[in-house]
Amino acid sequence: MNLIVTPDEASFDQAAAEVIAPVVAAGGNLLVATGNTPMGAYRLLGERHARGELDSSRARAFQLDAYRFETPEDPRSLYGWMLRSFTEPLGFNPERVVRLPGDARDPEAACAAFEAALKAAGGLDLAILGLGPNGHLGFNEPPVRPDAPTRVVNLTPESLVSNAVYWPGQAVPRQAITAGMNLILGARRVLLVARGAHKREILHAALEGPRTENVPASWLQALNERLTVVTDTAAWPEGGRALTAEPA
Ligand code: PGA
Repeated sequence: MNLIVTPDEASFDQAAAEVIAPVVAAGGNLLVATGNTPMGAYRLLGERHARGELDSSRARAFQLDAYRFETPEDPRSLYGWMLRSFTEPLGFNPERVVRLPGDARDPEAACAAFEAALKAAGGLDLAILGLGPNGHLGFNEPPVRPDAPTRVVNLTPESLVSNAVYWPGQAVPRQAITAGMNLILGARRVLLVARGAHKREILHAALEGPRTENVPASWLQALNERLTVVTDTAAWPEGGRALTAEPA
């Protein structure tokens, strides 16, 4: 694992952007998280694109998770958030943006089609992930097996609370569709971004605790060198101490 511990928000955003930029420039396939944590890095990348310093014309973006029944017009739509924060400012070709259709009438078929589209594109070069307060990745809520596919999930009470801050006064949908753990763990590289004292305990459980269904992010330990974690000293006060990597 590559563990990058940053002292402040500016260096946190910069470090995450440095992981993402080369994959975009190389025309890679990215799984794209929303949530608050990666937004600063996305802004930096958007600025880089606006200056003509980041070519995204060959890259593809795949939506990490969607609320069940979200339409692109709903202000709570995670698809809309991904477009506004990532693919539009970075100048992605809209034809190379793959939506996870939360409003699909046949969600099983839609999940299978999403996985097939990713496979046909050559698989994931980079999965960008935030860390839920309950250890979730996307909406892979605990308990979850490492081979869980793209599917419909019920949100846990923790996620309903943590997501409520994104849209004050509006109800958080109770169900979602998430890219599966199978796709995340099959990515050629994973970037996990987590910062702040409120993430300290769950980040330690994810990286140092037992690999368990009850902490979905703990399955990332199996990735070894394919995993990069960008965090800060509030979430990881030990600083940049390298953790011992176990064989996969
Ligand atoms: P956050 O969300 O980046 O807003 O903390 C992470 C998550 O819940 O997956």
